Amino acid sequence: MFLIDDIKSDSFPTLESTIISHGGHVLRVTDSQYRLAATLWNPAIQVWPSLILQPAIYDDVSLALSTLYSAKVPIRIMGGRHSYGGYCSHRGVVLDSSRLKNITINWEDETITMQSGVLWREVYDVLKESEYIIIGGLCPSVGVVGFTLGGGYNSMYTRSYGLALDNVLKFTVALYNGTIVTASSQINPDLYWALRGGGGGNFGYVLEMTQKIHRITDTKLPSGQISFFNITWENQDLKEALLNWLIFLKDIADMDTRISFDVIVYVSSERRFIMMWGTFNGPQVELQPLFNSWLIKNPKPDTFSIFNYTQMDIARELGILINPFPVRERQHIVSAMAINITSTMLDVILESQPNSTVPIAQFMDIIYLNNANKDKNTAWPFPDISFDIAPGFVWTTLDGDYAAINAAESWWQRLLNAAAPTQSIVGAYLNYIDPYMPNWQSMYYRNNWNRLREIKTIWDPTWYFRFPQGIPPITRQSLATKFTSKWSILAITFTITVFSKLSYL
Ligand SMILES: Cc1cc2nc3c(=O)[nH]c(=O)nc-3n(C[C@H](O)[C@H](O)[C@H](O)COP(=O)(O)OP(=O)(O)OC[C@H]3O[C@@H](n4cnc5c(N)ncnc54)[C@H](O)[C@@H]3O)c2cc1C
Repeated sequence: MFLIDDIKSDSFPTLESTIISHGGHVLRVTDSQYRLAATLWNPAIQVWPSLILQPAIYDDVSLALSTLYSAKVPIRIMGGRHSYGGYCSHRGVVLDSSRLKNITINWEDETITMQSGVLWREVYDVLKESEYIIIGGLCPSVGVVGFTLGGGYNSMYTRSYGLALDNVLKFTVALYNGTIVTASSQINPDLYWALRGGGGGNFGYVLEMTQKIHRITDTKLPSGQISFFNITWENQDLKEALLNWLIFLKDIADMDTRISFDVIVYVSSERRFIMMWGTFNGPQVELQPLFNSWLIKNPKPDTFSIFNYTQMDIARELGILINPFPVRERQHIVSAMAINITSTMLDVILESQPNSTVPIAQFMDIIYLNNANKDKNTAWPFPDISFDIAPGFVWTTLDGDYAAINAAESWWQRLLNAAAPTQSIVGAYLNYIDPYMPNWQSMYYRNNWNRLREIKTIWDPTWYFRFPQGIPPITRQSLATKFTSKWSILAITFTITVFSKLSYL
């Protein structure tokens, strides 16, 4: 374990006292607030840091970074603590954003500026009396920054208004050496491009970001309401029901981005059901005629209900409006970004719960993302996909870890095999980061990997922001293999040397 008290540096007492004098906190294992602050959402990947720094102002984030970087102390950046890989924490020093909670709305420009410690629940709370929505997480305790840097979809609104990353106008970022920079389409556009899809923890500490908010007007319903629907099939021919749904998507919904779906498939020896949630972002009178041709087909759904819901109502229905985290199950998630779903893939999706001596439950989630990505000039590598197929595996005890993770990874491999003949699966979702995934570089980033590494080399040349499955800068060695031209090597080596030198100034 890395203990900050072991480091010989005069600057640490000053750093700690400065953070505290400005309303921030410094937490060690013995502090009463430590355990809550260090608890990760998923107990299966819990690690306990040696020190948690919680600055309350940007200058103190800067000071923390410059001090820790100069002393070569590795850090992790902590937001809402939902990373499935636990990459916001480690056994060393954590820079936690939980004291940076400011939210400012500019109604005229229809934008919102959120500091890095804000959680989606807090944003929904300030927007709840308005007619506006934001592209935020269905789980309200997810952090706004971690969510957005990895893409960020809201299965109910994204097809209308894009991913979270499509909606960011500006980031304010503290770099490894404490320098604060802006990233937007006009200022540092390469960093702006990389932050939108390059993933949390890679390029710098995002202090705040400004996003578009959207007024719900096309539904003709009062107070920002949208038609929220629920369709279920239980103990029927679930494959046929899903095939009918896929036909509806192809014939109607692929062309009509007002229609959204989030589908849960559950198959065990006791119960088999499909539960579809969705929204229609248009006048409710148009919904029924659009859906009719599909819903009259056999097997007919057991239920089809429509509600008028605000974003807060949807978060209450689908998310879990609680904080801090209660004791919960251990979890592992895998995800497949798919261009389409074939009949053989459906067979894998409809497999029964894992057969294991340890109780493991499997909850299949299929998010419909056709035409969701609105700005193609970002690091989001999946403009061509239609689905994220993402089952979550949950279990309760440490003894189950191996069996559950094994069940999840082998399920994912079976899905990949089923998709192989049609090449339907083109990657995996970075926000559902999977520490066991092979070829994660190409699965998360596809063709953007090299460009992201180049941008990393400029903004974090010594790889200070580092974690497993993080983007590395380009090293001299990797350049030598890539570039055969002597002059290219010389030019880029020179650039890296200059940046490395500057970074230590
Ligand atoms: C229950 C649940 C529901 C989810 N639902 C959705 C969903 O509907 N849609 C979706 O797209 N995703 C969803 N996710 C995935 C979620 O978006 C990612 O796990 C996201 O990375 C979590 O961000 P966080 O800040 O909460 O977590 P953290 O673990 O704190 O951070 C995640 C990563 O971002 C980095 N990071 C955090 N803050 C900063 C910062 N200020 N600057 C730079 N890097 C930072 C961390 O170092 C870490 O690597 C869900 C996850 C869970 C557990």
